[in-house]
This record gives sequence, structure tokens and C-alpha cells, in this order.
Amino acid sequence: MASPPMPPMPVESSWRAPGRVNLIGEHTDYNDGFCLPLAIPYGCTATVSPLSEPVLEVVSAQQEAPVEIALAELRPGRLTGADAWAGYAAGVAWAIAERGHRLPGLSISLDGDVPLGAGLSSSAALECSVAAALDDQLALGLDRSELVALARQAENDFVGAPTGGMDQLASVFAERDRVLLCDMRTLAVEPVPFDLDAAGLSLLVIDTRAPHQLTDGSYGERRAACEEAARLLGVPALRDVDLEGLPEALDRLPDETLRKRARHVITENDRTLACADLLRTGQLRRIGPLLTASHESMRDDFEITVPEVDLAVEVLLAFGAAGARMTGGGFGGCVIALMEPAQARAGALAVQAAFAGRGYAEPVGFPVTAAAGVHRLG
Ligand code: ADP
Ligand code: MG
Repeated sequence: MASPPMPPMPVESSWRAPGRVNLIGEHTDYNDGFCLPLAIPYGCTATVSPLSEPVLEVVSAQQEAPVEIALAELRPGRLTGADAWAGYAAGVAWAIAERGHRLPGLSISLDGDVPLGAGLSSSAALECSVAAALDDQLALGLDRSELVALARQAENDFVGAPTGGMDQLASVFAERDRVLLCDMRTLAVEPVPFDLDAAGLSLLVIDTRAPHQLTDGSYGERRAACEEAARLLGVPALRDVDLEGLPEALDRLPDETLRKRARHVITENDRTLACADLLRTGQLRRIGPLLTASHESMRDDFEITVPEVDLAVEVLLAFGAAGARMTGGGFGGCVIALMEPAQARAGALAVQAAFAGRGYAEPVGFPVTAAAGVHRLG
């Protein structure tokens, strides 16, 4: 008797993954610490379909020309210059091949609405949507932690961006109306209530349009300073010093720069855990001062803000924000503010006017709510 037909392979697999903003917990990820990102209602859709030739073809609605690479050539360093963007997608396929899976010819088609390079993690949205679509198309049966690992490997080892891993965790595990408390040592995640509508609040994002340059060396310098401070303190990472141990740690560090870098990370971990505690107990309105303190720490101790983001925070606080801070790696990027919805509209206009007065690029403001993580379309 003939066996029943095999279920057909999907003709194409289409998955969407979100960008994120980090509510609090900045530059703590590579210190084995804590962060509290939420997914935003903007993301990237990846559609994967089979090709008969042994090539990987990557197309994006946000890029002019498609990029094609022979599967035999798929390794770090092969996609550079005008083709570099395709590395975020090809890197995921490469990471799958590195795990011993045989890759067939594939076409990956991308379409995203996260502004590129603004610090809202268009890169993780792209990588995570591709990881989930490839997993589905190739029937790999990967769990969500493995999707995170593939996406991180693409960004760190294929593209060569030494980022800390929060973005991919958020893009995969985020949930609607929740922020995700991430323990970056264990990679454990805990969804924590963050229902802005129920609290009658708005989370305003201002993309300052000030250039965001994570790869210009400043990020690496901050990371190296944190590692040096941990080494001098005899701990595996700055995560292992808590607020109580801070005064003694500062006494033991030999120079002012290391003291400032360590103080930011140690106090930021504490603020992040305090913020999660408030949210768990339904006190969303009370997290504002923690957000503002985080900004001051990034400005004065970690020294990763720029005049545009400091001005946006100042204006939003003057317009009644409960709290405001830069979010993301720094040196530009976005500011977030927790505000009454009516204040948020006025605040965004006031930031625009203040920027025009200083001759800065025109900022873009929009409210976000906490959205779902990676999911299948259709
Ligand atoms: P961020 O993640 O903050 O947006 P990154 O510099 O980490 O900034 O990543 C931005 C880069 O990711 C872009 O310059 C581009 O190479 C790539 N990228 C992101 N989204 C897309 C997309 N939809 N299509 C093509 N490339 C994209
Ligand atoms: Mg990125």
C-alpha cells in the first residue's frame, strides 16, 4: 500500500521580528548584568524561499540592489562595502551551516520599518526574522534560545559588530504589554507587566537623527574599561559588584575614568532591578526618576551622550515627563520619555523647535507600546 504523501515543504516562510527600545539597563549587557528592553511595533519581515542554484540571494526593500553569494563562498569577510548590509542575513545562514546543517539554495527577501542605525535595533529585527524564517523553511526545529544564538553569531562573528546580545533576546522573547527583564549572565528572561494604556501613559521615542556610530571604537573602549575594572576588582564581571560594594570598589580603582565607568554599570544594574520591582507591583508611574537617573549616569559617568540627546531629555523633562533618558548604545540615537499622552505631543514639538534653534538635524518623535516578539506571518 502506498504510504501517505509527505506534507509539502512550505513554498515560502515569512516571519516578522521587532526592533526594540531599552527601557533601562544600558551598557550592562556585556558586563553580565541586567537590562529591560521592550519590543516596538516596528520590525522586519523576512521571507525565505528555495532556489534551484546553490546560491544565497538577499533582497531588501530598503536597499537598491540584491546581493548574491555562492553557498561555497559563504564566510565572514565576503560581504563588504555596498554589500555589507546583506551580511546580517547571510550571517544567519552561515551560522546555521556552521552547526553542520546543509544549506540548499535560498532566496531571502526583507522588508523593514525600523529606522536604520537609529539605535532601535533594525539589525536584530532583520537577523531574528531571518533566523526564524530559515528555521521554518529548513525544518530545523530550533528553540527560541537557539534563534537568539544564531542572530548574535551573525552580528558578532559574520558582520563583526561587537554588540552585547540584548537586542536579539528582546526581538525573540518580547511579549505584548510586557518589558523583558534580561539577565545577561544566564540569558534568563522574565516578562514584567508594562501596560502603558492601562496606566494612561505614553512612551515617547525621539529619534534625534544625531549619528549613531557603535563601530567607531568608543563602544570597544567602554567595554575594555569595564573589563579592566572587573579585573582590578578581582570579579568575573562588574555584575558581581552590587550597590553596597560600590564605595569599596571605587576606592580600589586607580583612576577616575575607570571609577566613572564602573559606577555607571554598578548603579545601572541596581536601577534596572529597582525598575523591574516597581513594574512587577504595578507602579509604572513611579519609574520616571530611575529613567532620568540612568540618563545622568550615561551623561556624566559613562560619557556616551551627545548634545542632541542631552537637549532632548532636558526639553522633555521641562515638558512634564515623569522620566527621560537616552536609549541604546549611545553617541547619538534615540531618547525615550514617559509622559501623559497630551504632554507627549507637545513635548515632541518642543524638541523639534529646540533642535531647529540649535541648527541640529530635524528629530522624529513617535509613541511606542510594548509589542510581541518574533512571529510567523500568515
Ligand atoms: P540599528 O540596529 O540600531 O538600527 P545597526 O548599525 O546595528 O543599527 O544596524 C543597521 C544596519 O542593519 C543597516 O545599516 C543595514 O546594513 C542593516 N539593516 C537593518 N535593517 C535592514 C533592512 N530592512 N534591509 C537591509 N538592511 C538592513
Ligand atoms: Mg543594531
